[in-house]
Order: sequence, then C-alpha cells, then structure tokens
Amino acid sequence: MSNAPLHRVSWACGALGVVVAVINSLTDSDALASGTYLTSTVLLGVALIIAALVNKPDNRIWPMLLLIAGTSITGQVIDARFTDQAPEQAIAEGLFLVVQLLLAVGLTYISAKRLGNDPISVVVDGIIVGLGAWFLIWVGLLKPIIDTTEQTIVVNALQGATLAASAIVLFTLATLFFGDSLRTPAVWLVAAAITFTLIGDVIYSAIDAGRIDTSSNHALSAYIASLLFAAAAFLHPSIRTLTKKSIERQQRPLLSRLIVTTSALTVPVIVLASSDPVDTADRVVRAVSIAVLTIAVTARVVQAVVSNAKIQKQLIASAQTDALTGLPSRSLMLTHVNNALLGAYDEGRQPSVLFIDVDRFKNINDSLGHQAGDDVLVAVAQRLRNALPPHCVVGRISGDEFVVLDSETRSPSEAMLIADKILDCFHEPLSLRQGDVFVSASVGVATYQPTISGNADDLLRHADTAMYRAKDAGRNCVAVFDESMLERVTQRLAVETALYRALERRELRLVHQPIVDIEDGEVVGFEALMRWQRDDGSMISPAEFIPIAEETGTIVPIGAWALLEALTHLKTWITEGVCRSDATMSVNVSPRQLHDPQFVSVVAEALRRSRVTPDQLWLEVTESVMIAEPDQALSALNRLCDIGVRVAIDDFGTGYSSLSLLQKFPIQRLKIDRSFINGVSDDLSARSLVRTIIAMGDSLGLDMVAEGVESVRQLQTLAELRCAKAQGYLISHPVPPESMGSTVAALDQFGSWSRLRGPRNT
Ligand code: C2E
Ligand code: MG
Ligand code: MG
Repeated sequence: MSNAPLHRVSWACGALGVVVAVINSLTDSDALASGTYLTSTVLLGVALIIAALVNKPDNRIWPMLLLIAGTSITGQVIDARFTDQAPEQAIAEGLFLVVQLLLAVGLTYISAKRLGNDPISVVVDGIIVGLGAWFLIWVGLLKPIIDTTEQTIVVNALQGATLAASAIVLFTLATLFFGDSLRTPAVWLVAAAITFTLIGDVIYSAIDAGRIDTSSNHALSAYIASLLFAAAAFLHPSIRTLTKKSIERQQRPLLSRLIVTTSALTVPVIVLASSDPVDTADRVVRAVSIAVLTIAVTARVVQAVVSNAKIQKQLIASAQTDALTGLPSRSLMLTHVNNALLGAYDEGRQPSVLFIDVDRFKNINDSLGHQAGDDVLVAVAQRLRNALPPHCVVGRISGDEFVVLDSETRSPSEAMLIADKILDCFHEPLSLRQGDVFVSASVGVATYQPTISGNADDLLRHADTAMYRAKDAGRNCVAVFDESMLERVTQRLAVETALYRALERRELRLVHQPIVDIEDGEVVGFEALMRWQRDDGSMISPAEFIPIAEETGTIVPIGAWALLEALTHLKTWITEGVCRSDATMSVNVSPRQLHDPQFVSVVAEALRRSRVTPDQLWLEVTESVMIAEPDQALSALNRLCDIGVRVAIDDFGTGYSSLSLLQKFPIQRLKIDRSFINGVSDDLSARSLVRTIIAMGDSLGLDMVAEGVESVRQLQTLAELRCAKAQGYLISHPVPPESMGSTVAALDQFGSWSRLRGPRNT
C-alpha cells in the first residue's frame, strides 16, 4: 500500500503549523494567551505523529516521544497559568526537568549505538563539552536567577537541575556527533530539533535571569522550530535506522571535534579569568566545575596518547608480520638476521639462513584456486614452525617463499641438519579443506662467512641464489651456497643482456636435422634447431639460452625470425632439388610464443613470404603448453589448424599430459622422446612403452616420429614396432643449410639405407 496520501497530510500539517507560528511571531501578541502557539504545536505534533506512523521508527521511540510531549505541554500550560504561585511553579519546573531527563536518556540510547571504534575518547570529549556548557550555564544563567528572582528554594533547585540536565543533553548530542557513524539526515534533523529546544530553554532562563529583555514569544518560536525539525526528522526515511548500529564513516570527524572541544575548554577559562565569583557558593561551584573539567581534559589527553601509542605499535606490527600466516615479514626477518650476526664472529657462531620455495606452487593456485593456495601457505608455515627447534625464526618473505634463520649454527653442516628437517616435514601430505595435498620444497642454504656472506642482506640473497640452484637440480632438494653460484648468476645476467642483441648482430643461425621415413629411408622433412655463436666465437647451446629467451620474452622476436628463416631454407632446397617438393619443416615453438596474440599472424606472414604451403609446416610444442594455460593454448592451436598448419607434440612422454588432452587438442604428430628410444633395443620395459605409445598414436591417427635414434639396432626395433619416421645422429647430426644438399644425397642412396635397416629386408 502506498503511503503517499498520509505523507502529504503530514507535510500539510507541518506547513500549516509553520504558517501559524510565523503569524504568531509577527503579531507579537501573547502567543500562549492567543492560542496560536498551541495551534501550531498541535499541527506540528500531528505532522510528526503521521510521519512516524508512515516511516515506522523503532518501537522504543514512541513511549519516549509521548512522555516528552505530555510532560512538556503540561509543564508549559501550568507555567503559563500560574506564574506567580509557588507550588504550581515548582510542578512546572519539575515537569521541565523530566523532559530534559527523558531527552538525555533517549539521546544516550541513540548515540550509544553510534559511538564507533573509539567510544572512550568520544564520551570524554562529550563530557568536556557538557562540562564547559554547564560552567557557562552556571555563571551566565543559574547564578543570576538564584540571586535576582524571588523564587522558592525548591523552584531554584528544580530550575538548576533542569539546566544541569540541559548540559547532559548537550553532552549526549556531542557524543552523537563525535562518533564514527554515518550522519544520516534524520540524525541532523533530530540534532537540530534538540538544539532548538535547548535554545528555547536558554532564552527562557535568560529572561528569568534578567540577562535579556524580550518577549517569551522568542523562546516559544525556538520550541516551534524544534517541533518542526522533529517532524521533518520523522518524515525522512532514515529515521528508521536512527536507533540501529550505523555504517561507519571512512574518516573520523577529528577536526570539528577538536574545534568544539577546545572551545568548550577555552570559553569557560576566559569567563573564569574575566569575572570574579560573587560569593562563596559561586566560588565553590566554579572551583568544582573547573576541577572536574581539568580532570576530564587530563583523562582525554592521557587516553589520546595511549591510543596513539597503541595504534603506532599495531602499525609497526602489521608492517612487520605477514597477515596470512602471522610470520615475520621480510623487513623483520632482516632485523632478526642482523641481530643474529651481532657478535657471531667473536662467539664462533655461523648463523644460517635457509631460503625455502614451495615447488610448483603456481600449479596449486591455478588448479585448486587461490583459497587453497592460501591454505597451503598457512599449513606450510605451521609445518615449518612445528618441525624446527624453538630458537629458529621462521618468516614468510613473499608469495610462496619462506625463510628460516638459525642463529646458533656453528658450521654449514649444522645448517644442513635444519635443511633436512625442512625437507622431511613435507613427507606427509597437508590436509586441507579441499583434501590432502602433497607439496615439496626447494631449499637454499647460506651460512655466515665474514668475507662472503657478511651481512643480513648478503645472507638472504645468497640463500635465495642457492635455492634457485636447488630448483634447477630438480626441486625437492637442498643446495648450499658457494661462491661459484655468484659467478653463475653474473654469467646468466651477461647471457640475458647479450641475447637481446644476438638477433640484430646476426649471431643466431639455424641448423637442420633430417627426418626420414623408416620404411624407405627417404628424407621427408627437417627440424630447424637454433644455434647461437657469440662474437667471441663461443657456441651456446639452445638448452641454455632458449629458457632464458623464454623467461625474458626475447623468444618472441627470435622465434619469429627462426620461423621465416627455416621456411626460406626449405623453399630454397625444394627449388634446388635437394629434397622432395612436399618435404616438411618442423619448427620448435615455446609456450611464450604460443601465448603471444600476434603468433598466428606471424606464422601466416612467414608462410606467405616464403611461399611454402601451410601443410609443409610442423609446429613442435611440448606437453607443458597443454597444461599450464590450456584454454589459451587450445584457441591458438585451433586457429593455426584453421590456416592449415600442423602441430606435433615434442619430447612426448616426458610431460604430464593425459590422453584426454591429446584428444582435445588439434594434434597430428607425436615425437617420442629420446629417453625412451635410448633403451628401445635392449630394455624390455622401454620397448613395451614405445610399443604402447605407437599403438596409441596409431589409434588416434597420429603420425609417429622417433627422436634421438643413435644406433642401427634402435632403428631396426623401431621398424619392427612400425614407427613411421625417425630422426637422430644415426641418420644425421643437425647440419648447416648449405650442407643439406650433400647430407640428403648421402641418405638417399637406397643401398646404404637397406644396410642400415638390417636383416628385416634381407
Ligand atoms: P628438441 O626440439 O627435442 O630437439 C632435438 C634435440 O635433440 C636437438 O638438440 C638435437 O640436436 C638433439 N638430437 C637430435 N638427435 C639426437 C641424437 O641422436 N642424440 C642426441 N643425444 N641428441 C640428438 P638441440 O639442438 O641442442 O636443441 C635442444 C632443444 O632446444 C630442442 O629440443 C628444442 O626444445 C630447443 N630448441 C632448439 N631450437 C629451438 C628454436 O628455434 N625455438 C625453440 N623454441 N626451441 C628450440
Ligand atoms: Mg623439437
Ligand atoms: Mg624433442
């Protein structure tokens, strides 16, 4: 049901109430006597009640509102009728006191839910504001009223208590504003309503105290304004959340708080300095008020200093510990290592740093998700802490890298014992929510040696270098740092830099290895293999520089060059009659190239420029490309297939690809890895493995090539196993393009091939 009509009635009543109030203040008649005040009060009251019915605030607001309204109206009526009669005046003042107390209770209820993160400081600031206000009330209003009017002691006491209660209301109002909570429109409007009530009270009291000489209509106007804001507050939908725990603001209202509290502090001090107490009672009240104010301020200062120190401590702690595992971070570990090195030499200690990297952590993250990755890191941290002696410090310095510091070791061999403990602690699987996960780690060890690993930075860096050596050595093992590793790092850096230039300096070239048909010995294709001859004459093997090119991304331009170069060689050989016109060229492609968005167009461009047909190009990829980022690889390979290029899996059997991947990917050839061919003629299990691979490849309709054929017996066995093609040193080493003519000619001699093939054909 729509509440629009009710809303409108509420607005109309409110507007009418304001009109009546304006007329009232313009006519300057006795508002109470003429009834205009009552009329506008009633109209605004009706507006408020309808608005509250529509917006349905917290049920607890209702009795409070009714009580406030009831006592306030009764108090005013009695006050107006019986201004001179002491008993009734006392009753009226008593009712006003009840109103203030109800307001204070209501506001306390609301602001208690909105104090936010630092409630003590908010409350103490509120107390300072309340006390400052009380001091001004006492000096400016209460004391003159007591001194000048002829009211009874009871009325004076009640009026004093009412004004004191106003100071409490101000205190609660201040806490409402000083808290962290979002100030909704309802909060502002309620605050405005209460402020106007307080203004009305102050005007009334100021008239009583003889401070101002004005018609009480002004005070009544303040009450009307207060009602108006109250009605508006209830008309706003945010009134529903007034008594609920509110959303916190990003920024605390620190500046406005500071201004208000310092004013509440300085104004009383100025008043105190510029006016003298009139009698003993005045002196006592002033002294006590200022003393309490001083205590509040002192408490606040102490609280601020303490909380500042606490925050600072927390900040330092959070900067120095890793949030996920709670272990020390890199900077704290460096401090620990530094401390461990102090006096180590004199005491004969050789503190050790062990750098631990979780093997294949990326795979865990990629396959099980980041939550599982986090769980693994937490479990690894736990394992390390449990496995190592208490004096060892364990830290996590980034991603999947942990560091252990043992400050008590006296030799590298003692550090090795710790390293063994680390490897051992991963023997059991980690039990995660996702199930059991096996992990292993590569550990690099560096021990303090004044001349080599002399400071914390060096120790950490050297342990890191050793860890990489452990990774290179096949993971799940330990490597101890020695100086030659530094040379390796420097050398690698030099290779990286030189590789950037190799292409433009024409230091790269291609050699080719023929691929033959096992049945008739005919050369049916070639594989292009890269060589890097540096300007100093040294030859660097692709096994060394291709991984670096892959890591640094240089493989992309180098690979594009190789592709065009290889196809150009093939075209030349075909034209010169060196090989059959349908001979193929195999080019190795690394994962980085395949994931390059331009790769397909690079291939198409090379084919176009060399004028080789797409089905004469084989692209060799390893099984790893199907595993690391299978979707991306699949889409690139599909697009290559679409242009007619064929794809071979290189080094088949050394990766972890599954049969389902073989089916899913557009693959036309398997190249059986050299390691299987090695034992094919002597080792029964190797032979049956090769037989199985060939049978599987045949059933999938794949072309089969045996890699690394080095002996006649291997070739014979492969012929028996019905492997289609072969390549290897037996047939030919990789040769430069200009030597291919003589190489193929030698291979083409039928007689020699049948001798090679041996007894099967004879
Ligand atoms: P691959 O693609 O499996 O190449 C075969 C490797 O085995 C070559 O080593 C070749 O010289 C060697 N080989 C051939 N027959 C025999 C044999 O009978 N016995 C032995 N022991 N080895 C044999 P190479 O040229 O050192 O290349 C190593 C690897 O470097 C290649 O393995 C390939 O993965 C990579 N590579 C070479 N050229 C390129 C290239 O242009 N681009 C990319 N991305 N990788 C390349
Ligand atoms: Mg290859
Ligand atoms: Mg291979």
